[in-house]
Amino acid sequence: MTRVFNFSAGPAALPEVVLQQAAAEMLDWHGSGMSVMEMSHRGKEFIAIHAQAEKDLRELMGIPTNYKVLFLQGGAIGENAIVPMNLLRGKASFDIVNTGEWSKKTIKEGKKYAKVNVVATSEADNFTSVPAFETWKRDPDAAYLHICSNETIGGVEYNFTPDTGDVPLVADMSSNILSRPIDVSKYGLIYAGAQKNIGPAGLTIVIVREDLIGQALPITPSAFDFKQQADADSMYNTPPTYAIYIAGLVFQWIKAQGGLAAMEAHNRKKAAVLYDYLAASSFYSNPIAEGCRSLMNVPFRLKDEALDEAFLKGAKERGMVQLKGHRSVGGMRASIYNAMPVAGVEALVAYMKEFEAAHA
Ligand code: PMP
Repeated sequence: MTRVFNFSAGPAALPEVVLQQAAAEMLDWHGSGMSVMEMSHRGKEFIAIHAQAEKDLRELMGIPTNYKVLFLQGGAIGENAIVPMNLLRGKASFDIVNTGEWSKKTIKEGKKYAKVNVVATSEADNFTSVPAFETWKRDPDAAYLHICSNETIGGVEYNFTPDTGDVPLVADMSSNILSRPIDVSKYGLIYAGAQKNIGPAGLTIVIVREDLIGQALPITPSAFDFKQQADADSMYNTPPTYAIYIAGLVFQWIKAQGGLAAMEAHNRKKAAVLYDYLAASSFYSNPIAEGCRSLMNVPFRLKDEALDEAFLKGAKERGMVQLKGHRSVGGMRASIYNAMPVAGVEALVAYMKEFEAAHA
């Protein structure tokens, strides 16, 4: 068996020990005589798996007791509709900061349900920064203010948590959840698709302050009504059971690594190896403003894009895959989520040096 270093932006690499444990438990979970995939979501075995996963996530992130944790379907793009349906609470508009491709999708979808007020945008610098908080033109009557805490395509990450006062802060954390400690109490709602730092695609995590739910628009599908799901322990409909089980194993893996502070140290170390080399090289470049560079997704360009194909081919031959940048921006992108070992980033930089020496 040969495992590659997988730099995919998502679905992305998972910790090898998690995959091994899932493989060992595939046919017979804890003496139940069946796979987790085959269990009733209402049986005592799965209810225990679900409860443990929620408990571990609460512990890892320090989620206060007045927040609900929901394990849903629909993905982060689904949340672009589901969040306004649930959180407008009689108000007409929400605020948003536009930091790139994923923010743009949130704006477009949100306009179906609300007036969308773009309080700041980094479009003028081609989405290579996060607009300074002092410049945001916020509306005190907005239902909430939405940010994308890490733009997966652009490689731009917030290095601060905005203080939005009485207007609840909503964050799409799909690509940096669990990468470092955060103060959940500063947020009204956090959502994330699972397929980067958590587990398989198909699971969407929503963490929401309980006073914000219960006023969904009448058109809201019941399966996506946060109050109905909270009252039913995320089992109003059949939840993505196997994905929740794998997420639970990942939460236990993170705890065993030392929790989110240890994850942050691990992620900073990896990002530094790559960014330091990019800064020193005149062959490769990264356009993102210092202080806004993502610890999770590192886009870079070669001096001559005619060399891109050769670069990707050589990487593949050396066991490094999925380095091609998003189709909308081109170039390269190395996604280095929690499960990427330091050795993977070191192997990438060693190859980049080799390639540079051969083509400079
Ligand atoms: N938001 C962000 C920040 C993302 O990275 C992604 C997926 N790459 C999405 C939203 C969309 O997720 P999904 O396709 O699971 O709906």
